[in-house]
Amino acid sequence: MASKKITTENIRVRMAPSPTGPLHIGTARTALFNFLFAKKYNGKFILRTEDTDKERSKIEWEEGIINGLHWLGIDWDEGPDKGGAFEPYRQSQRTRIYKKYIEKLLAEKNAYWCFCSQEEIEAFKQERLSMGKPPIYKCHCSGLKDSEVLEKQKIQPTAGAIRFKTPKIEVSFEDLTRGKITYDGSLFGDMVIAKNLDEPLYNFACVVDDFEMKITHVIRGEDHISNTPKQILLALALEIKSPEFLHLPLILGPDKAKLSKRHGTTTSIEDYKKQGYLPEALINFIAFLGWNPGSKEEIFLMDALEKEFSIEKIQKSGAIFNAQKLDFLNGYFIRKMPLEKLTELCLPYLVEAGLINRGVEEVSKIAPMVALYQERLKKLSEITELIDFFFVKNLEYEKELLIWKGIGESELLSVLDNMLKTLSNIKEGEWSKEKINEIIMPIANEIGDRGKILWPMRVALSGKKASAGPFEIAGVLGKEKTLQRIKEAIERLQEV
Ligand code: GLU
Repeated sequence: MASKKITTENIRVRMAPSPTGPLHIGTARTALFNFLFAKKYNGKFILRTEDTDKERSKIEWEEGIINGLHWLGIDWDEGPDKGGAFEPYRQSQRTRIYKKYIEKLLAEKNAYWCFCSQEEIEAFKQERLSMGKPPIYKCHCSGLKDSEVLEKQKIQPTAGAIRFKTPKIEVSFEDLTRGKITYDGSLFGDMVIAKNLDEPLYNFACVVDDFEMKITHVIRGEDHISNTPKQILLALALEIKSPEFLHLPLILGPDKAKLSKRHGTTTSIEDYKKQGYLPEALINFIAFLGWNPGSKEEIFLMDALEKEFSIEKIQKSGAIFNAQKLDFLNGYFIRKMPLEKLTELCLPYLVEAGLINRGVEEVSKIAPMVALYQERLKKLSEITELIDFFFVKNLEYEKELLIWKGIGESELLSVLDNMLKTLSNIKEGEWSKEKINEIIMPIANEIGDRGKILWPMRVALSGKKASAGPFEIAGVLGKEKTLQRIKEAIERLQEV
């Protein structure tokens, strides 16, 4: 439950992904919660690319993140792709802005140049650890005179880094869901905030941007919680206002450990999309990763989320990732989807599996096949192995599969022969699953054990252990192919 009354005027929230990889489910959640929060209070939602890590950041990742968020149905008011009153929205293009703030800290002696080598720092930390103490680096460069700094810079122009003279004080903030959180500033050491005047690091750039972009609330994952006191201390030194903070609970695996590769869970939105999860299902699922409406209602489209969402219902405890729930939701939205649309979404999978050629004209042909499986489909990618048999010229299966328990081969042969004759009598124009049902069921009932006729018919038509019912399949296959496949089954049984 929210422990603090929130300000709801002129809300401006942001999501600030680092473009160093594909859109992660946790990032999508941060985006969704910020988006819903902005919607709720008629605020603005900003996308900011945090690409201070030059080696790992790539424009392709930014594009992937933007496309992924749009695919999910999340949009923003300002961002690198849209512009806005506070552009640019890529940190790599804001160097000029950060420089001013770094210079202020340096001028006021709240920051200093450090020339310690990596080796020195590492050795110091190791020594602290061996003494059982926290590895907080004690840098003595803060004592350097300006002239000494200049001298060092002259000798080694690219050496050094800028450290914040972190105040050794207690720092507290009111998290909007967790209440008061206090940290001991002396445990942070003098943190490095920039490599040089033109290359700030995350914590520093983030503070400057949140202020410059007039961000009112920072809503982000719990993994950032220890950055918050550092950012507050930086804001204090810069004499700027900090936003409000709300940290979303960690996403946990079924064993309640932080979700990681070890759980074998897909975390990339792009991978979910490839597997055939629908954006509606993912949004519904992601919304429940740390939030719930306080009722039994489980199904929420974006519109409903916009109405229902409130930060009071964000939980503090970890959000368990339940893959079955996602499958359930995906199946639900697949069932609700108009057949035409579902078929269109299935087409790329069929093309990729080589079952059909690219082309929109296929929809009317494929839709009846997809219809047979709409009820049981959990994800779109499953469609290929469910309906592949419709496209195959020669089905491959062992003849033993045709045999229903308790039936001998000769009885089976006469069942199939009979079936072939009976079905041949149906006129082309009357061929339908209803008609086939009408003709075959009396025979099946006469035999007593329906399986004796329905099972081999189904196997003959699909070549599969499990599939939709034989009449439905025959209806879609059409008369010619149905009879052809029954003939093939007979031939297969006759082979020695
Ligand atoms: N760039 C950070 C990340 O991708 C976001 C940090 C923040 O929201 O302040 O995790």
